[in-house]
Amino acid sequence: MRYSAFQIFKQGLTGNKHWPKTWRTPDPAQQYDVIIVGGGGHGLATAHYLAKEHGITNVAVLEKGWLGGGNIGRNTTIIRSNYLLPENEPFYELSMKLWEGLEQDINYNAMVSQRGIINLYHSDSQRDAYVRRGNAMLMAGADAVLLDREGVRAQYPFLDFDNARFPIRGGLWQPRAGTVRHDAVAWGYAHAADSRGVDIIQNCEVNGFIMEDGKCVGVNSTRGSIRAKKVAVCVAGSSGRVMSMAGLRLPIESHVLQAFVSEGLKPVIPGVITYGAGHFYISQSDKGGLVFGGDIDGYNSYAQRGNLPTVEDVCEGGMAMMPVIGRARLLRMWGGIMDMSMDGSPFIDHTSIPGLYFNGGWCYGGFKATPASGWCYAHLIATEQPHETAKGMRLDRFKSGAVMDERGAGAQPNLH
Ligand SMILES: Cc1cc2nc3c(=O)[nH]c(=O)nc-3n(C[C@H](O)[C@H](O)[C@H](O)COP(=O)(O)OP(=O)(O)OC[C@H]3O[C@@H](n4cnc5c(N)ncnc54)[C@H](O)[C@@H]3O)c2cc1C
Repeated sequence: MRYSAFQIFKQGLTGNKHWPKTWRTPDPAQQYDVIIVGGGGHGLATAHYLAKEHGITNVAVLEKGWLGGGNIGRNTTIIRSNYLLPENEPFYELSMKLWEGLEQDINYNAMVSQRGIINLYHSDSQRDAYVRRGNAMLMAGADAVLLDREGVRAQYPFLDFDNARFPIRGGLWQPRAGTVRHDAVAWGYAHAADSRGVDIIQNCEVNGFIMEDGKCVGVNSTRGSIRAKKVAVCVAGSSGRVMSMAGLRLPIESHVLQAFVSEGLKPVIPGVITYGAGHFYISQSDKGGLVFGGDIDGYNSYAQRGNLPTVEDVCEGGMAMMPVIGRARLLRMWGGIMDMSMDGSPFIDHTSIPGLYFNGGWCYGGFKATPASGWCYAHLIATEQPHETAKGMRLDRFKSGAVMDERGAGAQPNLH
């Protein structure tokens, strides 16, 4: 069923009791053309684009929990394409363009809101770095505006401009950036993929790969063995664990990242702000809660909850940037498992095992990448060729030296 104003009217006449399920609940078949392991945003987007762009509909998405239970439903909802490196910026700008048409494409209200993002700068050298980044964005067809101090003040008068240690000198503004209702992205892609015949199977954990003659020809799961011509792994924070079942070690570490939401407040923050002197980012949800976050917890973990020192650190960042936040009460917080790569950039690639593909290493920037990641992964699976914008996202780049270190932090996953 297509969602429309007419459907809302029609279903309303019968007390909203006859809406069909957003996606089916099929039993797994014995054989598929493609199995996608992981029903997060990236896995579901891949299934949608495989079906819609490449006509491959004999596809199953196997999810060990429920749709929206992973990072896709745990992130701070920020989308942007303000990257520097030529291997990254065109990819994230492709993603931004896909976000702009997403709701029509998948026939689902994901509350895409292009409310703008400002990255604050606090020194001359940081301003110069942002000028360089803004120029890289403009050259890739994105939008970027350098604001001086008064330009930032016009939008956010309550920031601490005269902080003794980190005074705010200005910001790099991307007006087309913004926020998207995170779990609706999973539901919307699931709805769209399901309507083209993709089987979405929840509560189905993959616990091994079926190998024959050195090739991957299917998976073992808690719902039995399922065969496929191609198996595409897309499990974000569980990447290391899942790929080790195929005997592969990845240049990825898993860390917790926490998110925080305050009590509901009247509208105070129209867009997204990131603090350039520490690690802090904030926006306000449509329900009024301030949604914010900061650094990852600095140790390896598969737990989906974090520790108190990081809570303190994040709140200190908030207080330094906007002391007014000290009046708000924290309502809830949670953690997700981040697949932190050694250079802070992701992978969309074949593996050394024929028939087995890998997508991961998104660090804490993978939500904004969801549409382009699905688009490029589907392209790779369908055509066996990397997509133009994802050519650098190779698994062997640490052997070749062609690393994509956007932040210049070196092989320190916890610093990217
Ligand atoms: C607190 C927090 C804040 C963030 N903020 C932002 C942000 O503002 N902007 C941004 O761009 N990014 C952000 N991110 C990062 C972003 O959410 C992730 O990079 C992205 O969601 C990862 O891709 P995914 O949606 O496919 O992951 P997931 O939703 O985690 O999907 C992976 C799925 O694989 C499943 N799985 C695992 N193992 C198996 C198995 N063996 N068998 C079957 N299924 C399996 C999991 O259950 C999970 O559902 C944030 C993340 C967190 C945690």
